[in-house]
Amino acid sequence: MYDFLIIGGGVIGCAIARELSRFNASVAVAESGKDVCSSEVRTGGVVCAARALFPYRPSAVKYAAAGEKMFRSYSAALGVTYRRTGCLYVCDDSFDAVRITDKCNSLGISCKTLAYDEALRIEPHLMMRNEKERYLYFPEAGLTDACEFVFALRENAEINGTHFYFGFEAEKATDGEGVTVISADGRSIQAHHVINCSGNNGGPVARAFGDLIYLEHAAVNCVVSKCKQPPRIPVFCGNRSVLPCPGDSVAAVCERVSSRRMVPEVIPYDGVSFEGPVELAFEPVLRYARLYSYAHGGDIIDRKGKLNGVRHVIGMDDMGITLAPALAMAVARSYSLEKRCNFISTRTKPVHVAALSASERAALVRKDKAYSSIVLASPPVTEGEVRDAVLRGADTIDGLERRLLHVGESGGARLAAAMERYCSDSGFFAKEV
Ligand SMILES: Cc1cc2nc3c(=O)[nH]c(=O)nc-3n(C[C@H](O)[C@H](O)[C@H](O)COP(=O)(O)OP(=O)(O)OC[C@H]3O[C@@H](n4cnc5c(N)ncnc54)[C@H](O)[C@@H]3O)c2cc1C
Repeated sequence: MYDFLIIGGGVIGCAIARELSRFNASVAVAESGKDVCSSEVRTGGVVCAARALFPYRPSAVKYAAAGEKMFRSYSAALGVTYRRTGCLYVCDDSFDAVRITDKCNSLGISCKTLAYDEALRIEPHLMMRNEKERYLYFPEAGLTDACEFVFALRENAEINGTHFYFGFEAEKATDGEGVTVISADGRSIQAHHVINCSGNNGGPVARAFGDLIYLEHAAVNCVVSKCKQPPRIPVFCGNRSVLPCPGDSVAAVCERVSSRRMVPEVIPYDGVSFEGPVELAFEPVLRYARLYSYAHGGDIIDRKGKLNGVRHVIGMDDMGITLAPALAMAVARSYSLEKRCNFISTRTKPVHVAALSASERAALVRKDKAYSSIVLASPPVTEGEVRDAVLRGADTIDGLERRLLHVGESGGARLAAAMERYCSDSGFFAKEV
């Protein structure tokens, strides 16, 4: 029997697992997919507390404001890319920029109102759509790589003793001695505490556990593309955002639309002309739709279930990455557990050969020849990186691509062949790693 079982290996489940692993407690994560981060928020790396102000969501904004502040040290400990870029909100004249600025100040979120030419210095591709527009600048906001962040949380939780069960779709729960969670294929896991972090599926999972929680959904349509001059920083305007993505010259336009369905449909854009707020010369390479899920009224849910020991932490809407560090810390601390003395708080950043200078690369290859053997020429990937990604938990091609490539890039058969080599040749790991 575990002390804690977390349902869902998204950013929230992995962050809570990692925080709980600081304490003397046994922790497991049950994920229905084959890997963590299956919701694939590959464009979603904006760390910006102010997003919870539009509309105003008191719990989300509280955790997001703290999460935004924690992100720099959190990502440094986990070896995750993070840049504090700031972000811009373009508001039309009906928008009460002064009121929002006051709200931000009272919450400790830095915010400035800028004139167009000041905003243009921050984002050179910004276009003015009408003269009444106001520009709110949030200097503390930043950009991370959402997938990399979730993978890092998993690896760090795992190294601190958390067990991950993949392909475990929680279907029902019973109580007795602790809570027993049963999967769709009949397996069961017992724990004293069960935390439902199943994201978009949080409502159905809660109901299967006997709790009448219903989430609402909004679909996000994204077009991700290479473009010569991607925006420098995220720019939000109404339901639409324009963001730089991980990878050179990649940008995304994401538009939030209402959705009644759990499965979002991609709304076909006619061609590639996007109206402001940022000028983009855009060639779409990838287009997809994803869901945001939120509670009625919009704020996050952190609620006890009817079964003793069950808790639901769901409905993050568009804020999950930003608020994960602070929410996870609050959830873990709420159990008043004893701290472990041997918690490993850091995780080594994986090697990305393409990002190294020539001398760094030469030094690396002297230590380990696998980093000189090329698997993919463009984008460049070496055998050593494939091996490391497999060791870090990739056991599908998708998992490998998400660890090694940027959005829109594909490794095809060569990556698959390399992966198979490392997965099947267990002697290699015994000898070399
Ligand atoms: C396109 C897009 C862009 C975004 N951009 C940003 C951004 O820039 N900044 C930001 O802060 N937030 C962003 N978000 C929001 C953020 O991604 C979400 O708030 C966050 O992913 C929610 O995390 P979660 O762990 O609650 O849920 P999820 O990430 O959905 O994870 C839930 C997990 O539970 C698993 N699961 C579901 N049912 C079961 C079951 N029965 N048994 C076991 N496992 C189950 C799922 O497979 C999944 O892995 C974005 C979201 C989208 C869709």
